[in-house]
Amino acid sequence: MKILTFDIEDWWIYEHYQIGSKLNWLPRLDNYLARILDLLDIREIKATFFVLGEVAKNNPEVVKRIDARGHHIGCHSYSHTFWRNAKPDEVVKDTKIALDVIENCIGRKVNAYRAPAFSITEQNKWILSILAENGIEYDCSIFPATRSYGGFPTYSTKEPAIIEIDGYQIKEFPMAPVTILGHEIVYSGGGYFRLFPYWKIKSLVEKSDYVMTYFHIKDFDKHQKRFYSSFESESALLRYVKNYCGLSGNFGKFSKFIFEFDFISLEQANALIDWRQLPIIRL
Ligand SMILES: [Zn+2]
Repeated sequence: MKILTFDIEDWWIYEHYQIGSKLNWLPRLDNYLARILDLLDIREIKATFFVLGEVAKNNPEVVKRIDARGHHIGCHSYSHTFWRNAKPDEVVKDTKIALDVIENCIGRKVNAYRAPAFSITEQNKWILSILAENGIEYDCSIFPATRSYGGFPTYSTKEPAIIEIDGYQIKEFPMAPVTILGHEIVYSGGGYFRLFPYWKIKSLVEKSDYVMTYFHIKDFDKHQKRFYSSFESESALLRYVKNYCGLSGNFGKFSKFIFEFDFISLEQANALIDWRQLPIIRL
């Protein structure tokens, strides 16, 4: 199965990096969102959109528009804090506010979550029980490999499974990294989707039984302002390449991807899976 997901957070990111105000960015980003929604309608594809609580609060019309087109709305936290060093109180507070705002916006219970930057790790896996306690049924936060802002390399599967933790159960849909030249990477979204040639992405998808994608609107915005301080260090240069290379043709590449493969939302995936056949992972 191929699951299509988006993280809707860009209105926050631009002010964070001091490269423009949310008000200036809204019309153009909104334009890309409209194109994505139209494309999905043409293909009759439903996706899961993980929205930031802050977007639901400040730009509720954006979330309502996605919801009105029949897509599944999940939560991407309220504040986009990376949870690596978080304390339980902070996560509880952020999660409750985010769910409250998003649920008020769409008038429905939210049942899916993705942590900012996939930042649920071996050290803070207790976050999963906070999510379950707050009514989250599906989580998409685990990146089962090493990663700069998180990563859970000891997590034992790259496919959906039921996690049992502190007496709670939660259905986990992890990212599915592949090993290329000795590195575990995720090609199905973000920087690597832009950088890899389409034929490579296509062949990787064709070989996979389970594909979890993650796109952002800024992945397509070729005229966005670019944030960089200097290229003095190798890591700064690498970050710039990962953030901005391949932007100009990316919406075309994405459209081809959407036309060539059948995608489903997390809710549709959940209905297709016979969970009794899948392993229970006790954390
Ligand atoms: Zn994010």
